[in-house]
Amino acid sequence: MENRIIYLDHAATTAIKDEVIKEMMPYLTEQYGNPSSLYSLGRKSKKAIENSRNQVASAIGAKKSEIYFTSGGTESDNLAIKGVAKKYKNKGKHIITSKIEHHAVINACKRLEKEGFEVSYLSVDKNGKVLIEELKNTIREDTILISIMMANNEIGTIQPIKEIGKIAKERGIIFHTDAVQAIGSLPIDVEELEVDLLSISAHKFYGPKGVGALYIRKGTSIEELLDGGAQEKGRRAGTENVPSIVGMGKAIEIAIQNLKSYQKKMCYLRDETIEQILKQIPKAYLNGHAIDRLPGNVNMIFPFMEAESMILKLDQKGIAVSSGSACASGSLEPSHVLKAIGLSHEASQCSLRFSFGEENTINDVEYLVEALVDIVK
Ligand code: PLP
Repeated sequence: MENRIIYLDHAATTAIKDEVIKEMMPYLTEQYGNPSSLYSLGRKSKKAIENSRNQVASAIGAKKSEIYFTSGGTESDNLAIKGVAKKYKNKGKHIITSKIEHHAVINACKRLEKEGFEVSYLSVDKNGKVLIEELKNTIREDTILISIMMANNEIGTIQPIKEIGKIAKERGIIFHTDAVQAIGSLPIDVEELEVDLLSISAHKFYGPKGVGALYIRKGTSIEELLDGGAQEKGRRAGTENVPSIVGMGKAIEIAIQNLKSYQKKMCYLRDETIEQILKQIPKAYLNGHAIDRLPGNVNMIFPFMEAESMILKLDQKGIAVSSGSACASGSLEPSHVLKAIGLSHEASQCSLRFSFGEENTINDVEYLVEALVDIVK
């Protein structure tokens, strides 16, 4: 086997593309002007930010004026949820989300609960899908926000966002979706989906870490979280991270250009992996939805095999994967997502996630399956 790492953890993060680095370089070196400055060095930075805003907007069918740059998915989720809660607290204090959201959403909601808001955490079926009837029955007169992720980061299940968007609109409720895992893997049009707020993070689609965006539909009000300057029309104070914003614009532009072929390749690698594992390790089984799942996501249970030790053994063989369970990151708490789809504590400690990316090939799949067979035998 060649001496490279077989990286199968693209849901965690991706490497920045060369074209993206090239686009960022001038803003890390000679084009260092503060975008708020009036002289030409500053104006050039401002222009670069506005170009990136255009690129991000057109990737999701939004208007340029509806894109706000942030420090990433976590901040976008927090700004959306807390920003709406604080703005509309006199209208109502009820929020609906799901049990399988990313911690950026769940913990933002938990914080709001401490501040007197009431949050309903929708359950999901065994495939990780939100139940539409339960959503409808949970909506109340005082519901101000629904926040449901587009696709889950652990099990890859894609939610019926269009249907939820329609319900939210009919009931006059603001709808936020965390699209961090979906951008670059699924086509997204904010008009068609009827979402009001949408979170983006660049490092999931071959852009830099520490930069993201929040789409805020025109007419949707939020209270800003940071007090400071008037950047991002006062909604997100702080001198802009120009090189990273430029990188995100380029990365999203490339992702959209390549979306169809990328999806096709990811689906192929995903489906081959699932098929080969099921064939060669018959006691293994798949978590998440069989069809409505992210193109590059495989999440499987290997009964009686502890995920953490499998990760270390795979690492020795040069393969980087992650666990579906938080135990790998030092906590003994099983993953809230695996718990929500009904897995026992024991089963959820035996789950591995393989998330593919553009440098992977079918050889990587074969090498992975061989390594897994060797480990579980
Ligand atoms: N939301 C989802 C679904 C994610 O997968 C992640 C990152 O793993 C985040 C939010 C947080 O994004 P960031 O790492 O940019 O803060």
